[in-house]
Amino acid sequence: MASKTIEIPILIAGGGPVGLALALDLNFHGTPSLVVERTATTGKEPLAKAGTFNERTMEFCRRWGLIDRIAEGFPDDLPRDTVYCTALDGELLGRSSVPSARDRGIPPVSPEMMRRCPQYKFDPILADGVMASEHAGIRYNTRMDRFEQDEDGVTSWLTDLESNEQIIVRSQYLVGCDGVRSTVREGLNIPLEVIADLDYSLSAMIEIDDIDPFHTFGRCERFMFIGPEGTWANMTSVDGLKLWRFTVVGVEASLQPEKFDIDSVIRRAFGNAGVPYTIKKVVPWRRAQTLARHYGHGRVMLAGDSTHTTSPTGGHGVNTGIADAVGLSWVLSALVDGWGTPGLLQAYEAERRPVALRNFGSSTENYKVWVAKGMDNVLADGPLGVAARRNIGNFMQSGLQQEWYSQGIALGYRYENSPVIIPDGTPAPQDHPSFYFPTARPGHRAPHAWLADGRSIIDLFGPGFVLLDFGAEPQDVDALCRAAQSSGVPLRIERIAQPEVAALYQRKLVLVRPDGHVAWRADVAPADTHAIFERLRGAHLILEQQHV
Ligand SMILES: Cc1cc2nc3c(=O)[nH]c(=O)nc-3n(C[C@H](O)[C@H](O)[C@H](O)COP(=O)(O)OP(=O)(O)OC[C@H]3O[C@@H](n4cnc5c(N)ncnc54)[C@H](O)[C@@H]3O)c2cc1C
Repeated sequence: MASKTIEIPILIAGGGPVGLALALDLNFHGTPSLVVERTATTGKEPLAKAGTFNERTMEFCRRWGLIDRIAEGFPDDLPRDTVYCTALDGELLGRSSVPSARDRGIPPVSPEMMRRCPQYKFDPILADGVMASEHAGIRYNTRMDRFEQDEDGVTSWLTDLESNEQIIVRSQYLVGCDGVRSTVREGLNIPLEVIADLDYSLSAMIEIDDIDPFHTFGRCERFMFIGPEGTWANMTSVDGLKLWRFTVVGVEASLQPEKFDIDSVIRRAFGNAGVPYTIKKVVPWRRAQTLARHYGHGRVMLAGDSTHTTSPTGGHGVNTGIADAVGLSWVLSALVDGWGTPGLLQAYEAERRPVALRNFGSSTENYKVWVAKGMDNVLADGPLGVAARRNIGNFMQSGLQQEWYSQGIALGYRYENSPVIIPDGTPAPQDHPSFYFPTARPGHRAPHAWLADGRSIIDLFGPGFVLLDFGAEPQDVDALCRAAQSSGVPLRIERIAQPEVAALYQRKLVLVRPDGHVAWRADVAPADTHAIFERLRGAHLILEQQHV
């Protein structure tokens, strides 16, 4: 078998949304990478997977110049409402109303709004972005088989699945974005630990020309079907037009796709409404919250589903994975450029692992509302049934508030105990799944504000560090600039003479990392400016290890 060798700074195994996001963000930082994907193309099959991209993900897509195409991926006038009912021709129990993209508009806390876009459209938009980029590329039909790492780099053995040729890649770093059955994670011997094993589900992709004439509940994005046993199925719009994901919740023994009569469950949901539908595909899946014990080892790192999975109740899976990619890309870029230290790789795990626990804990809580008990009288006649249906509707609406409104999850995550963030002693604002409290406290996402020239302040962040100077008069930043230079840390000064933005950031000097997180803030630079940049590039962690 012939073999050829490729050299590249960063090799990314897996061209799903997270691998593609990593390549795009590395490109933004000017670092070359190659994505290897075992399948022949991106998003070939219209499978119903992720479909909700939160404000933070959209801020990253803004950075990569991809917003307009994503916005076209879903009708902007479809209300995001969820209808709770016993069947399409049955009783209405309640409704959670969430305005359509058109009615919602851009929120005050972000330059971008959360968007719906089916993953089979979203992933190809990222892939097109990678292919059009200067520093990143994709190789399809290429399987990552195994790797070995040494002090200077990683050697990976791949197979070209068309020619059966072996390819050897020598890279400085390897990242496994190869999904839940990650070859890279297995190669590192890192277990995926189960935090909550929730259920076994069966999802059918079904096509319906137009569902609205067949019910009286009004246009919506989702139906949740509730019986005496609780929520037994739900149906969510995939493309905002004809494609729906119909999911049955159950146990593995009863939901075997080859034996299970999914038509009978769809008929129960549709009742006598007579909805014509076509089943396109049935996919079984296990609903579980899992988390890798570590996010990498040495020069081999992990991101996305290779490190964690979640119940889709909240749509946090793909968004958390994409934020992993952005949290890792600047670190790898800093290492390749020579100013980062391996301490930043430790910090990546220390920052991102707690966020996965936080986000997916929220998804698990949402799921528990879905399957809550106490629905016995939902179909009862008379006042008993009327009261039960009203109570169940209220329970679902209030219990799932944080599933449909999760701006706090999207924007309020913080790197509280990060070893490469310098805390300023101020108390943390509340961490609420639905509500985001803007803050420039170190460790948080630097908050959005519109600048006088029409840009968002977020547009200023990366590549390299940015020192925001909010003083009424330009601050003396010479010592900070010299310290950054002596540590090799790329630094740009941005002076912002807008009092309302200064009030939001609360300090005259604020250092923002390449990933848009606040690293340090103060009114005056301290005497030891060198220590700041040594800490921000993780050098102290390496020194501490040498002294152990
Ligand atoms: C049925 C279903 C419904 C979902 N619903 C939601 C939802 O509603 N909301 C949500 O946020 N998320 C949802 N998800 C999860 C979401 O799809 C994932 O979180 C997201 O795709 C993770 O992206 P990833 O890039 O980490 O992994 P993946 O999307 O799994 O991509 C991994 C890629 O690596 C490739 N690969 C694997 N092994 C190799 C190898 N050895 N060599 C080369 N390439 C390899 C694979 O072909 C794949 O393209 C759903 C997933 C499923 C399956």
